[in-house]
Amino acid sequence: MFDTLSDRLSATFKNLRGKGRLTDADIDATAREIRIALLEADVNLGVVKEFIAAVKERAKGAELTGALNPAQQVIKIVNEELVEILGGQTRVLRFAKRPPTVIMLAGLQGAGKTTLAGKLAKWLANQGHTPLLVAADLQRPNAVQQLTVVAKRAGVAWYAPEPGNGVGDPVAVARNSISIAQQKLHDVVIVDTAGRLGVDTELMQQAADIKAAVNPDEVLFVVDAMIGQDAVSTANAFAEGVGFDGVVLTKLDGDARGGAALSIARVTGQPIMFASSGEKLEDFDVFHPDRMASRILGMGDMLTLIEQAERTFDAEQSAKAAAKLSGRGDGEFGLGDFLDQMKAVRRMGPLSKIFGMLPGMTGDMKEQISGIDEKEIDRIEAIILSMTPAERENPKILNGSRRARIAAGSGTKVSDVNKLVERFFEARKMMTQLASGKMPGMPGMPGM
Ligand code: GDP
Repeated sequence: MFDTLSDRLSATFKNLRGKGRLTDADIDATAREIRIALLEADVNLGVVKEFIAAVKERAKGAELTGALNPAQQVIKIVNEELVEILGGQTRVLRFAKRPPTVIMLAGLQGAGKTTLAGKLAKWLANQGHTPLLVAADLQRPNAVQQLTVVAKRAGVAWYAPEPGNGVGDPVAVARNSISIAQQKLHDVVIVDTAGRLGVDTELMQQAADIKAAVNPDEVLFVVDAMIGQDAVSTANAFAEGVGFDGVVLTKLDGDARGGAALSIARVTGQPIMFASSGEKLEDFDVFHPDRMASRILGMGDMLTLIEQAERTFDAEQSAKAAAKLSGRGDGEFGLGDFLDQMKAVRRMGPLSKIFGMLPGMTGDMKEQISGIDEKEIDRIEAIILSMTPAERENPKILNGSRRARIAAGSGTKVSDVNKLVERFFEARKMMTQLASGKMPGMPGMPGM
């Protein structure tokens, strides 16, 4: 559902790559592109405005920490703001202190309420709960029967008035269901209510009456993510007319632009709690704002890498190396620094994984560095440690006899030593370019 938005945002971030420093103009241009991407995805205008203002302000005020390059810093900010918009922390279901916990579903007809009732019931049953599904939708023909079918599929109990026997009061049905749940020891009651094709006052009143009758622990507003901006206005109408504690997005498997759905949490101030993404009862999950944000940014791996870089980053060591590389440092960037840098990268995790996570790497660089496997780093370490401090600092003095001695000392071959020295000079050249901001970056390494 969010593919186009993902693509647009990735393209925007790509433009930032390789910039050593972001000017206010860069940030403004980026913000403009993100704004267009969000609006094209149908995110609510008010939400977009707030979002962009926050990203701009934070990006301009961001201190360069060294752990992240400017592009990564912007990605991080956008990610965090997106998580905020989607409701921040994952909101878990609140259970009543004294059972049964009552969950009421409200929303328009066709939103997917009845299907959701089954999904939620099955999900709860899998966790050891004993839910009772209640059909308080007496409006739509077949609604009762549909709920029965769904309950059977989910393998849970249901309570529904027999169609056509004159039981026509959904409020009474809902109220009765609570005592039935108490008698039969159901610890959760899920009340499915009637929806209409559009918002109307009678519908709102009925939902409000049911709410007053059953005093739910959670009122969930169920909304079809495919209906665009109507989702926002419907949410507002339900927030005003009935009031709800959380949102359930359905039909996230659709290919509509889902931006409106992304606006609901911010517009209504209520969290998105669940997401439904298909017709099967299993197509359902707790909604995690952080996971959704990284899915939208299309760079879950990148975000992981950013976190790892921040965690393992050694500012002092990195600054020293960066200074040396840019010629401002205390001496030249030598093999000892090279080893430190390699170890810093390795602290972030298995190399192959790290390089897989770096979208900014050019083919050349990837080949250069990914040619180094874990075992090879150990070998490189042995070789470097067999050198004298003078050799490490200035590898140019490594003549044939020195190389033979080092190979013998480290249990390697002279060709290994040659390869390392050659690779070191290439890497230093590359890193010097990176330090001057001419090439795309990499966390945990100076200027990258
Ligand atoms: P209600 O009127 O709100 O109770 O909506 P229903 O539960 O009857 O759902 C309306 C239609 O949407 C049905 O055909 C469902 O199978 C379908 N539906 C519900 N949830 C999803 C979903 O997450 N994805 C897809 N593709 N279809 C869904």
